[in-house]
Amino acid sequence: MSARGCGRFAPSTTGRAHPGTLLAALLCWLDARSRGDAVRLRLEDLDRERTKAGYVEGLRADLAWFGLDWDAVDLQSEAVDRHADAIDRLSADGLVYACDCSRAAVRSAGTRAPDGSYVYPGTCRAQRVSRNAWRDEARPLRLALPSDPLELQDESGEDLSGDAAALFGDPVLRRRDGATAYHLASVLDDAATGVDRVVRGRDLMPSTLLQVALQRLLGLPTPTYRHHLLLLERRGEKLSKLHGAVDVVALRAHYDAPALCGALAGFVGLAPLGTRCAPGDLVSVFDWERVGDDDVLLGWDPTRGLVRGPEPG
Ligand SMILES: [Zn+2]
Repeated sequence: MSARGCGRFAPSTTGRAHPGTLLAALLCWLDARSRGDAVRLRLEDLDRERTKAGYVEGLRADLAWFGLDWDAVDLQSEAVDRHADAIDRLSADGLVYACDCSRAAVRSAGTRAPDGSYVYPGTCRAQRVSRNAWRDEARPLRLALPSDPLELQDESGEDLSGDAAALFGDPVLRRRDGATAYHLASVLDDAATGVDRVVRGRDLMPSTLLQVALQRLLGLPTPTYRHHLLLLERRGEKLSKLHGAVDVVALRAHYDAPALCGALAGFVGLAPLGTRCAPGDLVSVFDWERVGDDDVLLGWDPTRGLVRGPEPG
């Protein structure tokens, strides 16, 4: 039996990279390389409206510049037949329905799901769509998700147990714009490409239960999940993912790749601050025990680059 596993880094292609993208890619890549696993880059490009020309190539180029290589590169938009097959199966099982509800109507029901979205109250559940009819349906399609309370822990010991049907309501399978919805596409593509480890930021942790519920319904294996710390920035009173302060163009103007890799490794505890290194230099020292648990608050200083703590001023 081959013991070689497979990880994946799966950014959406709705923008260029930011520091958090590069850190997430680095941690995912180091996790795989330090285990001797394969690691794939999956570009999640299903959102046609928000995927602009140049984002896909820009992301690939930024990751290559940073020093990361991949055993395979998958474009999610090339897997739409696989997604349609799954909706065929689910609709043949009588689990797919068309939803007329506006976003505002779902919001007014007022219950928050663990991932911050609103719980869908099941309003349109009676509008089942048959196996042959779903492709002609212009409305969003939802899954009548059966109740299935499950025990779930990620690799770092976070308890993610619960009943996805109760906590999230019925998830969207196909969006109004015709794109396969994120959770369905993600679990189908992980299974089809042999991904057995999912390493990603803690911001995605709340939706893991829903993805595992989809895997169980579809008869797909469940990968091992690990969720890691985030880079945050201060925005007014709030801390948010480090996104706004600095983009990849500013990063690449300030840092060469070894300096940026060393800076990010330094912020999360993998190298002394000020180290210059390539991702490959960190493989032999990589260990999740060395990566901090706490999110890292960073700001951007035009002369010093990324700095710990609140932005100056
Ligand atoms: Zn509805």
